Amino acid sequence: MRRVIGEVEEKLRSNEYKMTPKREQVLRVLLENKDKHLSAEEVYNLVKQKAPDVGLATVYRTLELFTSFDIIHSMDFGDGRKRYEFGSESADGHRHHHLICEKCGKIIEMNEDLLEDLEERVTRAYDFEVVDHELKVFGRCRECAAGKEKK
Ligand SMILES: [Zn+2]
Ligand SMILES: [Zn+2]
Ligand SMILES: [Zn+2]
Repeated sequence: MRRVIGEVEEKLRSNEYKMTPKREQVLRVLLENKDKHLSAEEVYNLVKQKAPDVGLATVYRTLELFTSFDIIHSMDFGDGRKRYEFGSESADGHRHHHLICEKCGKIIEMNEDLLEDLEERVTRAYDFEVVDHELKVFGRCRECAAGKEKK
């Protein structure tokens, strides 16, 4: 974790921003909850446990700052809340996909791209260079699908 924090610090510094203790607290919470897709309020509640002097406005500002430098990504999974995750990529450097259960709200990460054919076709048919993509698949998770069968 120290190494990642150092890298983020470097990125901030090259953009003339400093890694303040408050910003570091926010970053730590995001790193410790890498796969949880936290909302700003959830980040705030976790930060508050360790650093009670950090306010919600600071958390919002810090999340915006990190997003603008591509340190984290923000996403909306259809419930109207922005959720954040530390920039994790699949093997080819593209973003991973998300499977969203419409019943319980669970978010499952899909760490395969599987869009290579599509990317190739897009490039060929539209003369468009694909840099990244964001895919959300809506449906029912295993538990919710099983629950439905019992009825
Ligand atoms: Zn891809
Ligand atoms: Zn579910
Ligand atoms: Zn994710």
